[in-house]
Amino acid sequence: MEELHKEGILYDDIGPEYIIETYDPKLDFRGVLVIDNTNLGMGKGGIRMTGEVTTLEVWRLARAMSYKNALAGLPFGGAKAGIMVDPKTITPQKKRAIMESFANSLRPLIPGKYIAGPDINTTEKEMEQFARAHGEWESATGKPATYTSSKGGKKRAGLPHELGSTGYGVTLAAVVAAQARDIKMEGASIAIAGYGNVGVFAHKFLQGRGAKIIAVSDSSGTIYDRKGIDYETLLAVKTKTGSISSYPGAKKLSRDVIYELTCDILIPAATPDVINEKNVGRVMAKIIVEGANIPMQEEFEQQLHKKDVLIIPDIIANAGGVISSYAEYKGFDAKKMFKLIEEKIVPNVSEVISRSEGTVIPRQAALKIARARILAKAKK
Ligand code: NAD
Repeated sequence: MEELHKEGILYDDIGPEYIIETYDPKLDFRGVLVIDNTNLGMGKGGIRMTGEVTTLEVWRLARAMSYKNALAGLPFGGAKAGIMVDPKTITPQKKRAIMESFANSLRPLIPGKYIAGPDINTTEKEMEQFARAHGEWESATGKPATYTSSKGGKKRAGLPHELGSTGYGVTLAAVVAAQARDIKMEGASIAIAGYGNVGVFAHKFLQGRGAKIIAVSDSSGTIYDRKGIDYETLLAVKTKTGSISSYPGAKKLSRDVIYELTCDILIPAATPDVINEKNVGRVMAKIIVEGANIPMQEEFEQQLHKKDVLIIPDIIANAGGVISSYAEYKGFDAKKMFKLIEEKIVPNVSEVISRSEGTVIPRQAALKIARARILAKAKK
């Protein structure tokens, strides 16, 4: 099939199927929904609200969701949405009105083509607003546990991302990768860059597996203690002060030095492109598990692969969130959701590691599996 690039967007045998741009003249905001591919099921992906979000960015994220959902073996296609508003410039009332207006504009595509979810600057609260405005409990996932509904006599409750599904999946990916490199989790040294939803829960679950978290960073800097940083103590410090920097007894280092520390496993769990041309040559970790989306471009993954660093790419490693979304959509409880994450992530990571040999990096192996699954289900 001939591929077409237009304004950066690649039109190919996968998609995008729909690019919908919305405008509300009363509230004066623009929104965009990209449904990249629905061969495997309804398009699933979160709603991002930032002043900078563009149609191109939303398409890129929607394509990543097509791959992520296919790799996780979920009956979901790929989609993503953006609301072009800086939430810091509006009141909570206006933010709510915007979520409700956006839900109404997407009515022709829900249910059937799209299921919403949280992303940057949208949380369980906004997902409840979206679903209530739409009038369908199933129109969004990542809703609060207190927002319930009944179907066929069965009560269903929201499964917020605040349960730690993504950090749990990242932990399982790290466990499988460590096994592949003959590293024992008991006592393995781990650095976690970013201490939000993903980083905090990765810390909790990895410590539960006996690993030693030797460094943690957030936007204020890195803390480092070779003896290990305790989860409960650090969470208490962060809850009290809003940052990790006053953790007792740890050395304070600059923010980005965390990517250069000697450790068994490095987990980027913050912003994109943290490993780049400036620091890639100084990365010392044996394994990198990508909790964040696109923590480095593929060329840097290639360079590290040549140095025998095992990299579990974002599209498999951070799929815990979307697996939790599927569990919520199906009306599962939290226990069943965590079990499902294990059943999906563990074999997927093993398969990708075993298929990536020689010059094929794990990301390429993963993309090959995802594309084959999507195209095998191509509509006639
Ligand atoms: P979050 O907003 O809860 O936390 C982000 C953390 O990163 C904060 O601790 C912040 O201080 C820190 N940070 C920001 N800039 C930094 C920098 N330059 N260096 C070091 N730390 C920095 O975000 P999150 O939900 O934990 O998401 C983190 C990443 O994981 C994002 O890339 C997100 O797209 C991806 N992700 C999240 C989920 C999820 O379920 N939350 C699912 C899949 C992927």
